Amino acid sequence: MTVAERPPSPLRLRLDRAALAGNWAALDRLSGAARAGAAIKADAYGLGAAAVMPVLAEAGCRDWFVAHWQEAAEAVRHVPAAQIAVLHGPMTDADAAYAKALGVRPVLNSLPQVQRWLTAGGGPCDLMVDTGINRLGLAMADLGDPAIAALEIDCCMSHLASADEDSAQNAAQLARFRSVVAAIPAQRYSLCNSAGIALGADYHFGLTRPGLALYGGVPRRELSGVIAQVAWPEVAVMQVRNLAAGDAVGYNATFVAPAPMRVGVIAVGYADGYLRCWSGKGHVLHGGERLPVLGRVSMDMTVVDLEAAPGCGEGDWVTLDYDPVAAAAASGLSQYELFTLLGRRFARDGGTFSPTR
Ligand SMILES: *Cc1c(COP(=O)(O)O)cnc(C)c1O
Repeated sequence: MTVAERPPSPLRLRLDRAALAGNWAALDRLSGAARAGAAIKADAYGLGAAAVMPVLAEAGCRDWFVAHWQEAAEAVRHVPAAQIAVLHGPMTDADAAYAKALGVRPVLNSLPQVQRWLTAGGGPCDLMVDTGINRLGLAMADLGDPAIAALEIDCCMSHLASADEDSAQNAAQLARFRSVVAAIPAQRYSLCNSAGIALGADYHFGLTRPGLALYGGVPRRELSGVIAQVAWPEVAVMQVRNLAAGDAVGYNATFVAPAPMRVGVIAVGYADGYLRCWSGKGHVLHGGERLPVLGRVSMDMTVVDLEAAPGCGEGDWVTLDYDPVAAAAASGLSQYELFTLLGRRFARDGGTFSPTR
């Protein structure tokens, strides 16, 4: 029996590779004396690590951060294992053994993780110290533990809780991190996420770890105009309908046509991460026109107003209006959620589905 080739998906995530490479270069430049790395956890924030990593490597990126051990397995297919750090650290002996087998660095987040790594034989690792976010990270009080002195630390890091705000917490974390740097010998030190890079040279140390801004997110106003949109979700029009005045659209009839109108049914819904918060609020782009979403977003489809786009018909593609800052403001979702929500039914170049173009 032959296996038929799958037809293309009616959903595709267009990646602007030039914008992606340009964003990394801009963040590397803004990092001053520090090098910029890349947070590529959650499949490069949903954009597809397989497509993103070669572009960033070509741009000059040499430091990669994933969260899960499962993600390390994908990352080593694209870049040298020694460039990859795993943020969750070894939660089990199996994780530590896997790090050794793959040759990636665990980020050690607690004394038990430090002990687990040393028991597994040790070797190059990163150390995350908590300077105030109270998430993962070694407590400041544990910095003097003799087990820490036994480590071979490549990058000693901490993570800012409020870098996207003008908060006094930033300076407080910086002051604590300076005392970490004085206490812990390491090859390199790192404090900044995307937003942190915009806080200035004091925060940069040797390595920065942007994620969001690589993918087009703008967490601080200083980065607007510097960062370009990377992710363009495109959706096929499945059907065109002509409504009469008084016809209702979608579940619970939340939109009623005030006059005869032409609408399009597009192949995206909340199962694809286009959540119901876009009901009656979202827009799609076609030929320079911005077309509103009508009524409720369903699981697999959404209805849009085609009145302004008479040339748009069945089989045509529309682009979700997904400018990260504007889309976050319109939807109430964070820019991070906008990216990571985009579902597996979107064809991604080099991803789960074969490229459609
Ligand atoms: C996710 C993450 C980053 C990247 O943060 P952005 O705000 O997306 O730039 C950096 N460091 C750590 C430890 C992270 O978990």
